[in-house]
Amino acid sequence: MNVRDKFKRPIKDLRISVIDKCNFRCPYCMPKEIFGERYQFLKNNELLTFEEIYEITKIFSKMGVEKLRITGGEPLLRKDLAKLISKLKSINEIKEIALTTNGFLLKKFAQPLKDSGLDRLTVSLDSLNSESYKELNGQNLDLNKTLESIEFAKYLGFENIKINTVVMKGINEDQIINLAEFGRKNNLIVRYIEYMDVGNINGWKPEDVVNAEEIIRIIEKKYKLNPIGSNYYGEVASRYSFEDGKGEIGIISSVSKPFCADCTRSRITADGMMYTCLFTNKGHDLRSSIRNSNIEDVEQFIKGIWENRSDQYSVLRSLGKLDSEKVEMFKIGG
Ligand code: SAM
Ligand code: SF4
Ligand code: SF4
Repeated sequence: MNVRDKFKRPIKDLRISVIDKCNFRCPYCMPKEIFGERYQFLKNNELLTFEEIYEITKIFSKMGVEKLRITGGEPLLRKDLAKLISKLKSINEIKEIALTTNGFLLKKFAQPLKDSGLDRLTVSLDSLNSESYKELNGQNLDLNKTLESIEFAKYLGFENIKINTVVMKGINEDQIINLAEFGRKNNLIVRYIEYMDVGNINGWKPEDVVNAEEIIRIIEKKYKLNPIGSNYYGEVASRYSFEDGKGEIGIISSVSKPFCADCTRSRITADGMMYTCLFTNKGHDLRSSIRNSNIEDVEQFIKGIWENRSDQYSVLRSLGKLDSEKVEMFKIGG
């Protein structure tokens, strides 16, 4: 089934958030002042079950989805996650399943995840300085645990592990070079992400963004970079190789250089709301649909949502035309 949105964009990727809880309190996503002990996260019966996620994913796969990304909150907090991944691997059309995690618990779960058939891992890591790492995760958690997890995942045979680093002015710009060198040394692809105005609570200001050009300038003080082409249509990161041939980095410049024209991504939250853009507040309730209708109706519902899609938030932001309310990042999962 060839399903296209209003700008003729196909639907190729599905990002599935499996939980809204997290063991970190990153300031740009879940500031600890807001997400204290009394914050009400979703209850277990509000989460999509594995069976529901599987059924929904099968429908998306018929419409063109080939890649899945499992995310959260912190996806490793969802019980038996590896079982879900094995189940999703059995869908013929799905070519690749990736997981985004903060990595803190990864050592414990890396083996079952490898056995489940998980294809790729992205670990979020904003600093290699143990004090600022503690500060940035908002929970005083130890950097070594995350580094050991990455090492262990490599040992188990995960290849081309990516590192996601959100760069914020005055907070972790000093880590740009460290992380580039860490990536080169350990065969990891570091992807620098421009700090984004996702959600409504992180107090984002344009001045807090370190843009792609600045990131490149900082790295090029030490290492010459050469742009390289994308791996596939709709890839979000601009890729650069180091001129000496050792390693590559990526930059996700959703603020300074919007890539909406190629955006083939759909997202579902842990409670089954479907979003067609990271920056919208208009969700569509797939959980009610899957719980109360037959599969054909759910299929028509999803198809209709994608065919009506005209999102291009980052383009509008760059033109100064903005919608105000947005879904929060810890719900939609990045
Ligand atoms: N908890 C997991 C993690 O941190 O990897 C998965 C969920 S997290 C929401 C997914 C990605 O979104 C992470 O790489 C995180 O750094 C990124 N992210 C969260 N808030 C962001 C923001 N305001 N700007 C840019 N990236 C952000
Ligand atoms: Fe948790 Fe990931 Fe959000 Fe950090 S970015 S608070 S690790 S969900
Ligand atoms: Fe896709 Fe929305 Fe991001 Fe544009 S702003 S690339 S439409 S998620």
